[in-house]
Amino acid sequence: MKDHKKVPVHDHGGYIVPLLWTFSFPHHEWWCPYCGNNYPMFSSNRKVEETPALKEQAKQYRKLTRNYLAAVGMIKGRARRE
Ligand SMILES: [Zn+2]
Repeated sequence: MKDHKKVPVHDHGGYIVPLLWTFSFPHHEWWCPYCGNNYPMFSSNRKVEETPALKEQAKQYRKLTRNYLAAVGMIKGRARRE
């Protein structure tokens, strides 16, 4: 059986949101686009099998939050620190 990719998610009482990988927040590479929580690279977040629906959801969230993440990155992300 082929192993499926697992992706970290944040569960909001049943509403599962895939975390987005970003360098906008120092030392916290995972970001929840729904509630704004940050998690470090090796976070202990729940991981679920990546489904096409989850992948699409992540894509949509990334599209919607691109400008926000770019702005945050300018202010406190690695772009400024390094
Ligand atoms: Zn969240």
